[in-house]
Amino acid sequence: MNLILFGGPGAGKGTQTGSLIETYHIPAIATGDMLREQRRAGSALGEQVKGYMDRGELVPDAMMIDIIKARLKKPDAKNGFILDGFPRTVGQAEALDAMLDQLGRRVDAVIYLRVSRQVLIDRLSHRYSCRTCHAVYTFTPQEARELPRCTLDAGELYQRPDDRTEIVAHRIDVFIKHTAPLIDYYTGQHKLENIDGQMSVEAVRSDITRRLSALRKGAGSR
Ligand code: ADP
Repeated sequence: MNLILFGGPGAGKGTQTGSLIETYHIPAIATGDMLREQRRAGSALGEQVKGYMDRGELVPDAMMIDIIKARLKKPDAKNGFILDGFPRTVGQAEALDAMLDQLGRRVDAVIYLRVSRQVLIDRLSHRYSCRTCHAVYTFTPQEARELPRCTLDAGELYQRPDDRTEIVAHRIDVFIKHTAPLIDYYTGQHKLENIDGQMSVEAVRSDITRRLSALRKGAGSR
């Protein structure tokens, strides 16, 4: 399965990725996490992307396309992948199609987690992430005064600089302007699975699983 998880910032892509990895045994490729790792490592790439990320802007297509090209060549992506955070522009989607075409592969499904602007803002302004495993948590301002450690690996929890309220609003605008056109792009390819991302984590998870098994059955009977 070659999957794309798609939705605004805070739509629940990262949260849903975990169960998909377990079900389908394919790696998650989360471009935001990859970029943050480059920054932590202090690489030249990390330095180049820093400004864009902290301002809530997109990193230029050419850079992102090179990163994905290299990542998809790794052996663990041979039998499928879950893309989280890529493509984010029509240019990136076209480059991905061309890349996969060369490998005789294609995107099987695009899972769109639909969430309203207000809910995205609420979620992100209360979101804390683990520095090491990237798990996400939601805390009220009171709870956040004394942050616990990550329950999975005891890593340090922090608020991403781009999750601050003023940047969040801008990221949502960027999503609407540059990324939302992908809804039409993938609807045109009959690949979009439009899911209500405001249901509980569990309900979203079972909706995704149900649709993907229907797709697999359909593919098997063709
Ligand atoms: P989100 O919480 O919005 O899903 P991510 O962790 O996926 O955030 O991405 C954080 C930032 O990394 C983005 O705001 C952007 O600056 C950069 N980034 C990640 N993926 C891409 C991409 N495919 N194209 C351009 N910029 C990207």
